[in-house]
Amino acid sequence: MIKQDIGEYKHIWIFVEHKDGKAKSVSFELISKARELAEVLGCEVHTFALGKKVKHLADEVFRYGANKFYFIEDNLLSEYKTEPFRDAASYLIDKYKPEIVLIGATTLGRDLAGTIATKLNTGLTADTTGLDIDKKTNNLLMTRPTFGGNLMATIFCPDNRPQMSTSRPGVYKAVEFSVEGEVVEESFKFNKSNYLKTVIDKTLESEEAVNLNFYDVIVAGGLGMETKENFKYVKELSSILGGTWAASRKAVQMGWAPQTRQVGQTGQTVHPKIYIACGISGAIQHQVGMKSSEIIIAINKDEEAPIFEIATYGIVGETGKILPAMIDLFREKIKKER
Ligand SMILES: Cc1cc2nc3c(=O)[nH]c(=O)nc-3n(C[C@H](O)[C@H](O)[C@H](O)COP(=O)(O)OP(=O)(O)OC[C@H]3O[C@@H](n4cnc5c(N)ncnc54)[C@H](O)[C@@H]3O)c2cc1C
Repeated sequence: MIKQDIGEYKHIWIFVEHKDGKAKSVSFELISKARELAEVLGCEVHTFALGKKVKHLADEVFRYGANKFYFIEDNLLSEYKTEPFRDAASYLIDKYKPEIVLIGATTLGRDLAGTIATKLNTGLTADTTGLDIDKKTNNLLMTRPTFGGNLMATIFCPDNRPQMSTSRPGVYKAVEFSVEGEVVEESFKFNKSNYLKTVIDKTLESEEAVNLNFYDVIVAGGLGMETKENFKYVKELSSILGGTWAASRKAVQMGWAPQTRQVGQTGQTVHPKIYIACGISGAIQHQVGMKSSEIIIAINKDEEAPIFEIATYGIVGETGKILPAMIDLFREKIKKER
């Protein structure tokens, strides 16, 4: 890579991904995380959006503490296509020179980030689960699981700017922090003959899609639930507690739950107030998706199971006995309180 004059780069930029006129929650999560990093760097948090109609997203991002909102509106950006999005984003980044660019590790974000980094000749750390600043060098430290999730690698990009990372949805909390930000409209001259692809058809996935992060309580089941039938306890407890249910990868592989409910490295990353892990051993690949939960309750018949190392409360016992007892207890309690 060619060495750049990195001194002219300043501020943290967040790409605002949107669907049906609304910004995706990962954008707010990244703005909140960027505010922490910006405090260390002594800089501002700026956002940018591309689309046919995106100006209104400014109000949303200012609610989470972004200082500026750049946007480009164009018919060519009415739906996501890699090349026009890449060119418009690269134009903005090249013009304003942010030090850091953070993008949600969604399907769209992963595609876009890679092409921008290639075009701008800079580094990209994909799918990070941790971001920090090296206080000596001010480099961005980007941490992600590696070697099948058995190791966490911290990567930095010392010679090129911007430092780019995609971060998984749900890793950071979106914290409201209203500011009066500045809106900057930009335009980009697309050379339409460069974009030959057209969208002919769209197919929506029929799988049950659920954003586990909407819930304060998640009850998750693993192989220790023993049968698909026993997953009814996981679902019932989550419903009584006003939450939702999830699963480990082994439970998904057994066909006891759809992949859309999997928590972990190859599933969703969650940070609910309460995470109840039922018959889940606590493999590192599962832990990376749930260890930032505020309270972790683990039920496992093996008192040596790794999940107990990160659990706030541990119950040693059979899921088939403990869960029906918990369901009865909470049902009674709720009845009395009504
Ligand atoms: C690249 C890669 C990505 C991965 N991604 C993910 C991921 O996203 N999410 C994920 O979850 N895993 C993932 N895995 C798999 C992960 O390594 C583990 O295999 C998986 O998490 C184990 O699931 P489990 O805890 O349900 O099963 P197990 O590890 O088999 O644990 C079952 C647990 O249940 C307990 N138990 C058994 N019977 C009972 C009972 N009757 N009552 C109480 N306790 C009981 C056992 O003591 C044991 O601790 C990934 C692996 C790789 C290599």
